[in-house]
Amino acid sequence: MNEQAAPGRDSIPYDSADKITEEVLARYALTEDPRLREIVMAVIRHLHSFAREVNLTWSEWEFAMEYLYKAGTFCKGPRNEFIALSDTLGLTMLMVAATQPKPEGATLPTLIGPFYVPNPPEYAFGTDISNGAQGTPVHVSGRILRLDGQPVADAAIDVWHSDDRGLYDVLDDFEENGPWGRARLRSDEEGRYAFWSIMPTAYPAPTDGALGDLFMNTTHRYWRPAHLHFSIVAPGCDPLVTHLFASDSDYLDQDVAFGVRPGLVVDFAHCPAGEAADGRVVEVPYRALTYDFVLTSSGG
Ligand code: FE
Repeated sequence: MNEQAAPGRDSIPYDSADKITEEVLARYALTEDPRLREIVMAVIRHLHSFAREVNLTWSEWEFAMEYLYKAGTFCKGPRNEFIALSDTLGLTMLMVAATQPKPEGATLPTLIGPFYVPNPPEYAFGTDISNGAQGTPVHVSGRILRLDGQPVADAAIDVWHSDDRGLYDVLDDFEENGPWGRARLRSDEEGRYAFWSIMPTAYPAPTDGALGDLFMNTTHRYWRPAHLHFSIVAPGCDPLVTHLFASDSDYLDQDVAFGVRPGLVVDFAHCPAGEAADGRVVEVPYRALTYDFVLTSSGG
């Protein structure tokens, strides 16, 4: 037996539940990047505190890790089950509200959701972005403005939404047929934007993956009210990620992702079949929305 190994055995600093948190924190305490150090150490403190609070057993933690593993297997292509979990646990909206305060008059941000695909196809002003998706036609138009009312030209406006089955292209035939109900538009010199598409409907968060287990075993329910997603990036302005919710949708007060905010619930007008304001002849009754997005600059 090696006599040299013996002296340290009485001074092991992590030999009890009481001591281990302090010792783990000490191991990370000299991490050079100050923000990384702050985050890692807070995660350790809160994780340990959580385990103590609920007296977490190994089988329960093993179950949690299997759950996360399962969530990972449902991340395919543009679909990210972890974003959906973050949204469903309210963490995303907590962060959006806490880190992106907006002054009076600015359009409020909300969550991005799990179905955004970067660099969508670009469409010209006023064209139809539905790309064959079925539903009630809708015309959406308005302006991109600064807080002082000045128009914002050349804003990149990414739009994406569900169809009248409540499906997104990425949950349907995206792999085979490419995007639909998804586009990048640009504001003109007067800040104007416009497009045609189809009305989104309220939809359940996808329950085929890890989210489904959560809903099945808890009292939280899975509906999102009807909405259009927008991500707007413009020169000299703060980026804005938001939704516009249809005021006649069900579930506005029960959004599974907690994303509904004042000012983002809007009225889509009911219009009879016929010639629309932009000259397009629509053969069925359609909906129309005018909405001006108001962007901030460096939070001001
Ligand atoms: Fe959505």
